[in-house]
Amino acid sequence: MSEKKAKVADNIQHIVSLCKRRGFIFPGSEIYDGLANTWDYGPYGVELKKNIKDLWWRHFVTTRPDVVGLDSSILLNPQTWVASGHVGNFSDPLVDCLACHERFRADQLLEEKLGEGCCAGKNFDEIHQMMVDNKIECPSCRKPTEWTKPRSFNLMFKTRIGVVEDSGAEVYLRPETAQGIFLDFKSVAENCRQKVPFGIGQIGKSFRNEITPGNFIFRTREFEQMELEFFCKPGTEMEWFAYWKKYCMDWLYGLGIDPAKLRMRDHDPKELSHYSNGTSDVEYEFPFGWGELWGIASRTDFDLKAHQTHSKKDLTYRDALTNERYIPYVVEPSLGVDRLLLVALCDAYEEQELEGGDVRTVLHFSPKLAPVKVAVLPLSKKEPLTAAAGDLYRTFLAHGIAAEYDETQSIGRRYRRQDELGTPWCVTVDFDTVGEGEKPEQKGMVTVRERDSMKQELVPIDSVVARIAELLAK
Ligand code: ATP
Repeated sequence: MSEKKAKVADNIQHIVSLCKRRGFIFPGSEIYDGLANTWDYGPYGVELKKNIKDLWWRHFVTTRPDVVGLDSSILLNPQTWVASGHVGNFSDPLVDCLACHERFRADQLLEEKLGEGCCAGKNFDEIHQMMVDNKIECPSCRKPTEWTKPRSFNLMFKTRIGVVEDSGAEVYLRPETAQGIFLDFKSVAENCRQKVPFGIGQIGKSFRNEITPGNFIFRTREFEQMELEFFCKPGTEMEWFAYWKKYCMDWLYGLGIDPAKLRMRDHDPKELSHYSNGTSDVEYEFPFGWGELWGIASRTDFDLKAHQTHSKKDLTYRDALTNERYIPYVVEPSLGVDRLLLVALCDAYEEQELEGGDVRTVLHFSPKLAPVKVAVLPLSKKEPLTAAAGDLYRTFLAHGIAAEYDETQSIGRRYRRQDELGTPWCVTVDFDTVGEGEKPEQKGMVTVRERDSMKQELVPIDSVVARIAELLAK
């Protein structure tokens, strides 16, 4: 069969329905009619997510002599968020459509029409005027509408610690993992004998009460982040900023993400946050348009300085060679796990029209991302095929290779199912394998089918595990 026509995901709904159908991602709380914009990762989604996190951790933490890991608390002393500016500034301009009363982020509505960064440095009155001057339409009722004036909406979720219902016990669910790293900077530097320049990496959940969540798992209120805070000597931060931008982009290329769908967008100086002297976003072209995947920011000494002031603890670093004391500057690459997972899905998705009009949907995951590496399929549900295939399946598992065994339905349908899961290889055990077929010379041989080319190859059953392990190690 040869491929006639290929169609990549041009509609996020194709991805959403494949994810539900194949057990990657389900709508949250479904038996109670759901909870809007919450998603549960099913058996294949959780493996895909774990692969993404493991690959990031290995590349950004384990294999680097200058980076260590951390797992800080989600609940931090509330002073943390006062010092970091989140209590005062982590808010979006909320506007209501006066016709249908739907709520939106004014900056997002304006950016869609006027381009990224158009609201930078503007106060709420100016933003309101821009909405009026540009006749911003309501995305919900589509009427040329009137809007309320923007109001500040803080994105942090509040909760309480303990049984006393007073404000003293109020805490926030962290909106980013980074602040936990800043709080532990001194402990890590001193107790783990880290010398600047060095980094601390962390993976964990973050929470933001987003005004307009949506586009599947692109923007949710509960999500995971993989963040690295890289501490360096003041004056060297621009070199490190350029270094990490390239390091991040190269890693994405290495995962097999299409370079034509990736771009680096450098923020205009007018757009920069007050604490940053350089910010760039890695963007991906999703089915709904270009969107931020990874924020890379040079954050100066803003965070450590702010925590030093608020905590009244010395957070300076002493260079053992020069005896110089300073507050390190920080470069932060901050990436959403769920966003990268969505990129992996969108990038891998393809509907292929095959000769004869048959359509196959396939996820072209790179083998290191694929949730299932190999499927073992007996050609028929009969002994001794199932016993031989079962043994082979268990051998794959014993070698730590994520394998799946499937004996139901026709072999063609089983291949299609594995294509939709993105499984790179299927190994078929047939009557020849067990010496009961018409080709005695193929006794002890299994067929390995490669997902993308659909090419099939005979391999001795005794060496197929080593063969797949070798392909995976590439
Ligand atoms: P946006 O402008 O899209 O709201 P941001 O600039 O506030 O994002 P950062 O604070 O830089 O985002 O967060 C770093 C990364 O965390 C983002 O690049 C993204 O991958 C991820 N992220 C942020 N908010 C969300 C969210 N609500 N849902 C899923 N991932 C998110």
